[in-house]
Parts: sequence; C-alpha cells; structure tokens
Amino acid sequence: MITIDGSQGEGGGQVLRSSLALSLVTGQPFTITNIRAGRKKPGLMRQHLTAVTAAAEVGQAKVTGASLRSTELTFEPGEIQSGEYHFAVGTAGSATLVLQTVLPALLCAPGPSALRLEGGTHNQWAPPFDFLVKTFLPLVNRMGPTVNATLVRPGFYPVGGGEFHVSITPANALQPIELLERGQTKRVTATAKVAHLPRNIAERELRAIGGKLGLTDDDLVVEEVKDSRGPGNIVMIEIECEHVTELFTGFGERQVPAETVAAKATQQARRYLSKGVPVGEYLTDQLLIPLALAGGGAFRTLELSRHAQTNIEVIKAFLDVGFEIDRTSPPGCVVRVSR
Ligand code: ATP
Repeated sequence: MITIDGSQGEGGGQVLRSSLALSLVTGQPFTITNIRAGRKKPGLMRQHLTAVTAAAEVGQAKVTGASLRSTELTFEPGEIQSGEYHFAVGTAGSATLVLQTVLPALLCAPGPSALRLEGGTHNQWAPPFDFLVKTFLPLVNRMGPTVNATLVRPGFYPVGGGEFHVSITPANALQPIELLERGQTKRVTATAKVAHLPRNIAERELRAIGGKLGLTDDDLVVEEVKDSRGPGNIVMIEIECEHVTELFTGFGERQVPAETVAAKATQQARRYLSKGVPVGEYLTDQLLIPLALAGGGAFRTLELSRHAQTNIEVIKAFLDVGFEIDRTSPPGCVVRVSR
C-alpha cells in the first residue's frame, strides 16, 4: 500500500487526482492523508469526490473515506473497464478535472470508451474545455490514442450545469513525444464568451487584448452563449504555432472590470510569446503523467511551478521513472522523462 501525504508541496487537489489516476493505471492501492491540507477548505469538495467515485467506477475499486470534506481515503483498484460512463459533479465544480483523473486509465484500457461529463466546463483553477480541445488532447493524440471531446453546453461558476462528451480509443502503448520548439507562430486569436451577460463585456475584453497584442478585428471573436444554465464570462487567447497551440485564459468575475480580466490573459500570453518555449505553465503539469506513462519524451518550458514539482513527486511514488530538468540550453528548461 502506497502512502501519500496530501499536504505535500502545493497540498491541493492535484495530489489526489494524480494518485487516483496512477493507482488505476498501475493497479497499486494507496492511502492518502491530509487531503488538500494546503487549501482554505481542506478535504474532498464535490469536484474531488466526483473524481474519486469516477475513478472507483472505472477501476472497480474498493474505497473508504469517500465523503464530502473527508481528509483521508483508501483506494484499492481492480481491473480497468473501458465502456460508457456518466460522471456528474452536481455543482459548478470542474468536470474537466474529473476527466483529468480517469483519462490516463482509459488511455490504457482494453477498449474504447465514451464519457458524458457534467459540471463546470470553464472554471477558474482548472483547464477550460477549450484548453483540452486545442492544447492538451492534440498532444495526447500525438502519443497514439484518439481522444475527441465535444461541448454540449458550457457550465460556469456558480450555476454549473455544463456538459461535454469525450470518446477515447486507446493505442497499444503511449508513445513518447518531444516538444522542444514551438516553430513559427501561425496565428494569434482571442475569443470572449458571454452567457446571459451584456455583449459589451466581451467587446471590452477583446478591445483591450487586441490593442495590447496588435490583433485585427478578424482575430477577435465574440461568442454569445445562449444555452448555458447560468451567467458566465471567459476570454481566451489562442496562440497557434507549428508544433503546439497554447491557450491563456481570463475568467470573468463579479466586480472585476472586463479590462482586468483581459489583462490577466494578456499578461500570460505576452510572457509566453516573449520566452520562446513551446509549453506553458499549465500544460507542463498536465503533460507529466502522459509522458511518465509513455516512459520517455521531453519538452521545453519555463521554470517548473510548485504545482508541477508536486506532481512529479506524486508520479515518482507510483512509477519508476526519472525526471531530469536540464537548464543548460535556454530558453527555459527541458524536462526529460526516462525509465
Ligand atoms: P484545489 O481545489 O485543491 O486548489 P484543484 O483540484 O482545484 O485543487 P489544482 O490542484 O489547483 O486543482 O489543479 C488545477 C489543475 O488545473 C492543474 O492541472 C492545472 O494545470 C489546471 N489549470 C488551472 N488553471 C488553468 C488554466 N487557466 N488553463 C489550463 N489549465 C489550468
């Protein structure tokens, strides 16, 4: 039985999700204590609990401690089952993070799967659905599997009610990838979504971004979302390069001016554009598990976040892989994974 201290490093939900994902793939049971001890409201929130029950279903696992606010959990996985699944967070909690928990196992499953996920699709502190489709899944697909995701309806905090579907056809084995250069920048675009809020918010965000990044009207898109259950706003800057597409997001919040939301996304995009690395901060921590499962591969990024470092420690508890951080050939550093 592997023991994981949930308070290690960043002490957030990632320690739990990565442990669940890797326990499923390796068949090794684990106990986690101090779940999310580093957060204001520690223990399992609805989103994390849904991730636990989803992982238990996919891996026919025996679980103790799976209740709201629980800070300790034991998870004993059985065989991974491919098939049809429906996971609903039940609040605006992130459904993309539920996918993050079960995807590695379903990439290694004996057959294809079809998932229906409900909850938040565009949440602060989680990958927005568009990040999955534009940035993360194309790289997973480059490793061999075929994963497609379709948005049925967006879900924003606080109402939630979003839905998306994911189809997964595993490959025999995940192949390592190397992502050391991003190549030519082909296009930079910005999209602002507003749901049940004035169109003017989106227009102000795009005007601010267009001005700072020198984008033309053709590169600025307003999407008025009609079918979401509640109000919401998000602005995303997509940087399409030859070898990777990165996506940087500003999340609309009450009392926060549109220009401030836009500035958050612009800052991240400018930093990325000026540094010449292919992989941004969030993609870095999300690529670690697929590469570890492939047993190899490398990518260039900026310095590793605490989040990424914590993820590396959790991965090493389950898999016999090495992570070399090579800082000798700037820009940034190269993360190399080896068995
Ligand atoms: P907690 O509630 O304990 O903070 P959590 O379960 O909400 O934890 P984190 O542990 O903070 O989540 O992990 C968040 C995950 O979402 C990470 O994989 C991170 O890369 C990803 N993420 C966060 N913000 C973005 C973003 N703007 N774009 C893409 N991915 C993001």
